[in-house]
Amino acid sequence: TRADITYFGAGPAYLPTDVLELASQALLDYNGTGLGIAEHSHRSELASNIIKEAKEDLATYLDIPSDYETIFMQAGGTGEFAASVYNLVGAWVARQHAAIAKEIGTDDESAIVDALRKRVESDLKVDYIITGSWSLKAYQEAVRLLGPEYVNIVADARKANDGKFGKIPDQSTWKLSKDAAFVYFCDNETVDGVEFPEFPSALAPKEDGTGPIVVSDMSSNILSRRIPVSNYSLIFFGAQKNLGSTGVAVAILKKSFLPPSVTQPSPSLLRKLGLPIPPIILQYEIIAKNNSLYNTLSIFDVYIAGQVLKKLLRTYTDKVDGQQAVAEKKANLIYSALEAHPEVYKIVPEKSVRSKMNICFRVTKNGNVDEAEKAFLKEATSQHLTGLKGHRSVGGIRASNYNSIPLEGAEKLAKFIDEFAKA
Ligand code: PMP
Repeated sequence: TRADITYFGAGPAYLPTDVLELASQALLDYNGTGLGIAEHSHRSELASNIIKEAKEDLATYLDIPSDYETIFMQAGGTGEFAASVYNLVGAWVARQHAAIAKEIGTDDESAIVDALRKRVESDLKVDYIITGSWSLKAYQEAVRLLGPEYVNIVADARKANDGKFGKIPDQSTWKLSKDAAFVYFCDNETVDGVEFPEFPSALAPKEDGTGPIVVSDMSSNILSRRIPVSNYSLIFFGAQKNLGSTGVAVAILKKSFLPPSVTQPSPSLLRKLGLPIPPIILQYEIIAKNNSLYNTLSIFDVYIAGQVLKKLLRTYTDKVDGQQAVAEKKANLIYSALEAHPEVYKIVPEKSVRSKMNICFRVTKNGNVDEAEKAFLKEATSQHLTGLKGHRSVGGIRASNYNSIPLEGAEKLAKFIDEFAKA
């Protein structure tokens, strides 16, 4: 039963049982209205209250400053790979348009567009730091949308590591473009178990507040650690790990990328510049203007996310710092158990970049990795420790140590790791 197992799946992930109990009731009859939450209109007052509260609770829990907008989106983390390109390249174009108009001192639109086309060709760059499978996918999406000539690889972690992920290249080797439309990194690589230990100093804002436009995918570690939100222009994440159920993604965007500061270029201008036109559903300014309700949003999924946030706020008076301390404690337990048996386990990433959320390792006992891992998974399952199989692309074992895994769950796994090694 649900009470017996500890589920370490990477996403969709285990959700707190009390939240699901509330949600199952809400699905049948929300607050005595006779209608379930998935049946109520997304235009109803109760739906906008659910959105409003979830946004406010997220802002409280993470200390999101007031110059940021939070929106709910619907195309998953993968949709955000595209959305980040469209919206931040659009903002770059808007800035260049204004700058050129000023430089050449004319409002002759065709002269501005000619100069702008040249500037796009010579100066437009988006920067990607590739540290695992997900930042690689995001990079590939940027290449698909813009063409390779506009996409710069700042660093590729596979290069100095036998073609495999597991490190973060030293920042002194990073090749950042001058005035990139944005610099992208994935804070926690779910497949490869690589997490940035802290905000990269190479991307830090300067004293005068200027600096790179930073985008980060935090799909698999959001809500688990404190983040210096104001260092980022855009943070996005799918809900289905630490926040809630599959079906919504969240974007936290600096308001200075939205109207009235910046208005996205028109489709006709983008066409003249040879740049892609975003689907309307991926345009942040449209979604923000419509309070995340440009089209039918799954209010049920926002409700679950909201309940997870309320539970976190009830549990930790010191908000995300409290959860972070627990996440670190659980991760330490599991990593220490693995480190105690170096002849049986090999932790995949380098120590300094090990993820607190996705703990990736190989079982090398008796030299036959395949067999040892099969035995490990079989034995773990018989002890009700499930969802431990690594991603199909890399194999091995992955213990996803998300917020919903209780301390006792991590203790059970650590004990099992020890016992399996000794058996
Ligand atoms: N980024 C990261 C870090 C992920 O772990 C995932 C999915 N596991 C994605 C992006 C893609 O998310 P989705 O499946 O919601 O498109």
